Amino acid sequence: MKSVYWLKRDFRLLDNPALRAALDRSDDVAMIYIVEPSMIEAPETSELHIHAITGAYNDMRSRVMAAGGKMGWMHMEVIDGLTRLYERQSFDALYTHEEIGVDRTYKRDIAVAQWCEEHGVKWYEYRQTGVFRRLSDRDKRARLWREHYSSDVIATPDVAELRKLDIPKAYSEVRTDDLAIDFADRISSQHERKLQPVSESSAEETLNSFLYDRGIAYRGGISSPVTALTAGSRMSVHLAWGTVSGRVVYQRTQARRAQLKESDEADAKRWRSSLTAFTARLHWRDHFIQRLETEPQMEYEPLNSAYNQIIYDAPEEHIMAWYEGRTGFPMVDACVRCLRATGFINFRMRALLTSTACHVLHIDWKRLDPLMARLYTDYEPGIHISQLQMQAAVVGINTIRVYSPHKQIIDQDPDTAFIKEWIPELREYSPAEIQGHRMESLGSYPGQVVDYISASKAMKSQLYSIKGRKETKEIAQQVYLKHGSRKGPSTRRKKTTATTSK
Ligand SMILES: Cc1cc2nc3c(=O)[nH]c(=O)nc-3n(C[C@H](O)[C@H](O)[C@H](O)COP(=O)(O)OP(=O)(O)OC[C@H]3O[C@@H](n4cnc5c(N)ncnc54)[C@H](O)[C@@H]3O)c2cc1C
Repeated sequence: MKSVYWLKRDFRLLDNPALRAALDRSDDVAMIYIVEPSMIEAPETSELHIHAITGAYNDMRSRVMAAGGKMGWMHMEVIDGLTRLYERQSFDALYTHEEIGVDRTYKRDIAVAQWCEEHGVKWYEYRQTGVFRRLSDRDKRARLWREHYSSDVIATPDVAELRKLDIPKAYSEVRTDDLAIDFADRISSQHERKLQPVSESSAEETLNSFLYDRGIAYRGGISSPVTALTAGSRMSVHLAWGTVSGRVVYQRTQARRAQLKESDEADAKRWRSSLTAFTARLHWRDHFIQRLETEPQMEYEPLNSAYNQIIYDAPEEHIMAWYEGRTGFPMVDACVRCLRATGFINFRMRALLTSTACHVLHIDWKRLDPLMARLYTDYEPGIHISQLQMQAAVVGINTIRVYSPHKQIIDQDPDTAFIKEWIPELREYSPAEIQGHRMESLGSYPGQVVDYISASKAMKSQLYSIKGRKETKEIAQQVYLKHGSRKGPSTRRKKTTATTSK
């Protein structure tokens, strides 16, 4: 039996169900990553994603090679690639993981299914997370999730098994050297870049340092961009590109929590509280990706269609000012510039960025979607689109939050160290001057491109007016039944009609 293992966002050897099945059932496995021109050209793809793919692929390749195996990559669309391989040497089966992605990857996968049928190739797809395709009963999700996350982790294939990975000579278009993608469209200059490594080896190191060293500061440490860099787990890039499985992260965290329960260390209580908060986010992850799986249309439409009526009127120059970090809102610009150089910012600041873009600059969340995706190395469509809609307040089942970019300086960066790190033009000014900055420029740093008070008031008035309508409430009820969290009611959910300024 000859198989092709088509690598997607699952660059790992440990806990890899598709790889396990391919090795178990085949005599030869050709493990191949396909660099699709349509992915490179997609509006949401940036050099940050290319950095993640090449780092993750090259690390995996060196592990496979060390065991005497081979893996390869090819640069063409998937259907072309499969056809060329098949013509040169036919294969019986195709192994992959299920991908919960955007319309582009969904349509490609439909074409792959058809291609497999036409060529008599059996396509085996494996679930690698707690997101369930065609889930008919939403109430079963929590149980299914627990079952998946507590099931056995699949061991890394041993050396003899990895040797079964081979690229036959007939596959001449498959390259077996390091993956290098020429991606000219840079979002930051080479010398500014401080990117997090993405690979199975660095996932292991990052998880260990979080669980045994950094994680104590998690609770209370993840709201500020200054502390979140180390207090947060920083596992998002690894989970997004599959350099570690969620199941491994979950089970290692559970083991650490059990150890802390027995511990009489002075800090054990604080550690436990932090790891409980972290575990909750592993649930959220799949909860939000499940939304996109259940409602793929949400890439184009708000979950609550009543919010289609919002009028967004941002001129192109304001959209570009947001994307390039020159809106005149120091906290917002510092976050965007940090993203351009590092590919990372914490949750609270992502919420601030979305809120400022949609509620203050009046940028349509659909326009924001690819721009923001380009800035995140950890871009994960299901979380990204769900969170974008939530923070843009177009879901209708959550509190509408309009974050004040001025208050966030006081709350999260009172001495303006973060702002000064990323906006050199402001280094000579005092925290009071930066906090008080409004419409006038401060030296070479611009004034706000819009007045926060009047612009946010205008958007709140639109949101309130839509939210108050009978039709909106009825749709919100359906959205809640279909997508709401199935935990007991929380105070947050009860207050669905409130608007808060944060
Ligand atoms: C507008 C917006 C867009 C976002 N886009 C993405 C995205 O494309 N990819 C992405 O991984 N996260 C996204 N997030 C969620 C969150 O900001 C990041 O997961 C988090 O900042 C990553 O840092 P960490 O790994 O240190 O997270 P931790 O706080 O340590 O959390 C652990 C893991 O849980 C998951 N997680 C954390 N917060 C959330 C959340 N609110 N919703 C769902 N899962 C969560 C992530 O996988 C994360 O790695 C977005 C948030 C917002 C507001």
